[in-house]
Amino acid sequence: MVPSKGGGQTVGETLDGLISRLERTSDMPGLDAQVLLVCLLDKPRSWVLAHPEVPLTRNRYAVLEALVARLERGEPLPYIVGHWEFFGLEFEVTPDVLIPRPETELLVERAIAWLRKSEPGSRELKVMDVGTGSGCIAISLAVNVPGLSITATDISPAALKVARCNAEKMNVSGCITFLETDLFPNPLIPDSFSMIVANPPYIPTNTLYKIPVYGREPTLALDGGSDGLALIRRILTEVPDRLLSGGLFLMEIEASEGPAVHSLASDAFPKARIQLHKDLAGHDRLLEVQA
Ligand code: GLN
Repeated sequence: MVPSKGGGQTVGETLDGLISRLERTSDMPGLDAQVLLVCLLDKPRSWVLAHPEVPLTRNRYAVLEALVARLERGEPLPYIVGHWEFFGLEFEVTPDVLIPRPETELLVERAIAWLRKSEPGSRELKVMDVGTGSGCIAISLAVNVPGLSITATDISPAALKVARCNAEKMNVSGCITFLETDLFPNPLIPDSFSMIVANPPYIPTNTLYKIPVYGREPTLALDGGSDGLALIRRILTEVPDRLLSGGLFLMEIEASEGPAVHSLASDAFPKARIQLHKDLAGHDRLLEVQA
């Protein structure tokens, strides 16, 4: 346990106490305990692990106790510490944006592989990220494939503020245009892209109400309507007009939506090559359309 009055405990003892305390509420108590101590001490994880003998001050205990109490009340750890790692990069996150998920790295990996094959050096590759949230997809692409021109949209001005800040922090704001709009830019401004990517809200409303993320992360970023496909349908209606011939469309989907999304994509792209990819847990997670 973290002692409420403090005094005398070392970093190592505090870490051990935290791990056993978090076992009750967390799937990954060891990792969460480390992340909390890293935040509390403002030192790298390697320092925390290498200095178990350093004593913690009474003030630090009080701050740690407050952080743990928030976690135990159900607040997601990334919002408490204010940042989260995705694709090897550290993204600022606030309750205005979805917390980046490891399964979304699948989309980023496939996007990067395709963009690199397309030799961005020879012409400017235009990419669109629909519903960018924290900006984690657009920014990971910009960091890993120099020379892209990316348009990243979101309906939430608060999310766009976080995304812009992340782009600046990672020195890629020059190649990303952030746009406040509902999915796509105004149709009166025609623009075509070599690649369109999206991680839209895809959880069916009634399922969302029953899962722990409800009320903890932005509903706007999670709620996919009654069958989870409302936004996906709208996106698939627009993508054919926006994607250049030979371009690639990648969209994250919910595990049970594979067959339905495949059929919607076949209607939207009768001649394209359409594939579903599974995530590491073996669930359908990504739609790929090669136009
Ligand atoms: N993968 C997220 C979750 O399961 C949902 C993300 C989304 O709706 N795009 O919580």
